Amino acid sequence: MMISNRVLKLKSSATLAAAAKAKELEEKGIEILNLALGEPDFETPINIRKAAIASIESGRASFYTPVAGEKELIEAVISRTKEDYGLDYKLNEVVVGTGAKFILFILFQAILNEGDEVIMPSPYWVSYSEQVELCEGTPVFVEGKEDNHFKVTVEDLEKATTKKTKAFILNSPCNPTGAIYTREELEKIGKWAVKHNILLVADDIYGKLVYNGNVFTPIATLSEEIKKQTIIINGVSKSYAMTGWRMGYALGDSSIISQMIKIASQATSNLTAVTQYAAIEALTGDQQQVEEMRQVFEKRLNHVYDRVSEIPGFKIDKPQGAFYLYPDISECLVLCGYDNVTNWVNDLLEEAHVSVVTGEGFGTNKHIRLSYATDLDTLNSAIDQIVAFVDKKQNK
Ligand code: PMP
Ligand code: GLU
Repeated sequence: MMISNRVLKLKSSATLAAAAKAKELEEKGIEILNLALGEPDFETPINIRKAAIASIESGRASFYTPVAGEKELIEAVISRTKEDYGLDYKLNEVVVGTGAKFILFILFQAILNEGDEVIMPSPYWVSYSEQVELCEGTPVFVEGKEDNHFKVTVEDLEKATTKKTKAFILNSPCNPTGAIYTREELEKIGKWAVKHNILLVADDIYGKLVYNGNVFTPIATLSEEIKKQTIIINGVSKSYAMTGWRMGYALGDSSIISQMIKIASQATSNLTAVTQYAAIEALTGDQQQVEEMRQVFEKRLNHVYDRVSEIPGFKIDKPQGAFYLYPDISECLVLCGYDNVTNWVNDLLEEAHVSVVTGEGFGTNKHIRLSYATDLDTLNSAIDQIVAFVDKKQNK
């Protein structure tokens, strides 16, 4: 009776639910091989931690900061974006907040009226659709074809466009598929967005996690017109191993950014001050460790991709970025006698103690997501257990 209809419709995050379930079993003393969460297993680099400690010891981290973030941090975001993208942004075109997740949430709050449509390629990251609905928008799923690395084409987008289309979410490199859009594909998408005045929400959070010579092209860099049509979403969680610090940011048109700041002023006041001082060091300090972590992910990808491809009934193209594998396991489900991927995932956890995420959270019903943001021993043992689980089910 007390709960709003809006919230009753809302699903909990499938990724965080999978992580919580694994933790629950671990607390009962069961050792779980956890490939569920998209979270680097590295600790935050030491220079960043030291900057945070210094800000506490000096007393600087004791106080509220401006809602949009400390000026020094906004400048750090601007200079990092200049260095990485070659683009210029002004101070009033940036907002910093509690993770890229919250930044996306206040963006949708700022732009969506009831019934406004937000196009998102499917499969999609679990929080996009739920956040849009929570903000009374309508998610419009455009299916990416598996033989095109799950990427959508501008022809697909034209078909999905209506008078109510307000925004398009581009997540390249993509969670969960690891696909990266090419410059040519992005040029077409950019022109489509400009033509229909559709906001491009460019979730670039995996932009530094690109492997084997693949290239990430930020859509905002394609032309001045496309830049104006784009809100860049980014954060330090993935590239700087800082998931627990919760720092995300957006860059774009000040008329949207100022509304996001207004919402934050009533919701959080500001991102935790100590995190802001840590993030300044992350964005402006030595970047070598970002590259070192990327190289480790690349090695793991190259190793696990071969092994996962060989699991009976698993089909997968090699991901280009992020840190996930998203195999089609429909043949495996048949071999194992299942007609539902989530039941298979639940039994894998209960019986083989391997935690992965069901594709259903990402909008498909024959895939699972495995994260390789964990050490090789855990990855190898998890794959061994999956193979043994499939073998057991097949021979039952
Ligand atoms: N976008 C994508 C595609 C993600 O996978 C995540 C998960 N971390 C986020 C945004 C949010 O990241 P955070 O809130 O940790 O900055
Ligand atoms: N984004 C990560 C994931 O997809 C972390 C959890 C979350 O925020 O969804 O696993």
